Amino acid sequence: MRFELLKKSGEARNTILHLTHGDVETPVFMPVGTNGAVKMCTHDCVKKAGSQIVLANAFHLYLRPGLDVLNSFGGLHKFASWDIPILTDSGGFQVFSLSKHVKVDDEGVTFRSPLDGSIHRFTPQKVVEIQETIGSDIAMVLDECLAPGNDAKATEKSLKRTTKWAEKALELHTRQDQALFGITQGGFFKDTRIVSTREITSMPFDGFGIGGLSVGETFEKTVEMLDVIMPLMPENKPRYLMGVGDPVLMLEAIERGVDMMDCVLPTRLARHGAVFTSHGRLNIKSAVYALDDSPLDPECDCEVCQNYSRGYIHHLFKKKESTAMMFATYHNIYFLHKLMEKTRNAIKNGEFSEFKKDFLKKFTSNNVKQMALERGESK
Ligand SMILES: [Zn+2]
Repeated sequence: MRFELLKKSGEARNTILHLTHGDVETPVFMPVGTNGAVKMCTHDCVKKAGSQIVLANAFHLYLRPGLDVLNSFGGLHKFASWDIPILTDSGGFQVFSLSKHVKVDDEGVTFRSPLDGSIHRFTPQKVVEIQETIGSDIAMVLDECLAPGNDAKATEKSLKRTTKWAEKALELHTRQDQALFGITQGGFFKDTRIVSTREITSMPFDGFGIGGLSVGETFEKTVEMLDVIMPLMPENKPRYLMGVGDPVLMLEAIERGVDMMDCVLPTRLARHGAVFTSHGRLNIKSAVYALDDSPLDPECDCEVCQNYSRGYIHHLFKKKESTAMMFATYHNIYFLHKLMEKTRNAIKNGEFSEFKKDFLKKFTSNNVKQMALERGESK
């Protein structure tokens, strides 16, 4: 992987990652296709919405279809007919959040599959192997994801493991056409965050993920931790904030030097009828939109907003037509990609902070009014 830092506006960065399956210009949002497909969005739609790279998940793909299938097809790009870059999450987060009977030791983690209860073991080596079989453009190391609420002592102990596992992964990674990213952890303590960021970024990874944030803590806490972590990040490597897809937090992260982000939020919200607009979020299932002939977001130039009304999409949601979810998903992905494109342009013009201020002023202005309307509390 080759990495270029093109331009900075304050700490916000415009960079390019040259990956095996194509270039990715940042700041970038990466839609999540856990099982090799983005929910309610065909590959064509994902690309048309402006996606440069998609995420897949090593944990889920390892359990099903399994490595034999992926191997026989020659990797996920061929199996799923994806021709754009893929980043695979190591599955650390999923092992700790979805599996039962999780037992972690210094060498790895043993767990029962949430699918059929079978016993599996992930080690740093195994997770590298899985991702080399998948053949993603960017692989992530196995890390221990502590649930929020752990004290400083438990966090410190867990960090030692994460650092040791990172060293192991580096040692065992062989694919030259695949970038390998380390992951910094450290819970919600400044000291442990500093230790982890220093340790992980001192290793020769191609880039660095920031893990363990956006796991249920407050907005202020996430930002506080980013303020501690980001100044310690090396300038010449990409920085990936894992699990963030809220427009407001995305801009806060970019302002502090984050390059890449992913999240299930925009696609999950869409399936529940919640869509992003330039004036904040709205829920199209609310009765106030039944007779509304304006598009989801009057300022959006996506295909859905160019062709269909809120009233029609409201009706489709009411009738549980899957087209409703497809429309909302496409629009939400498009909205975030457009936001990232505007952000990149603002950075190129050296105007990031003005851009952020203008966007947030509008995006947060109508939210309260809109939500009240939807709840029928305001006339
Ligand atoms: Zn749209």
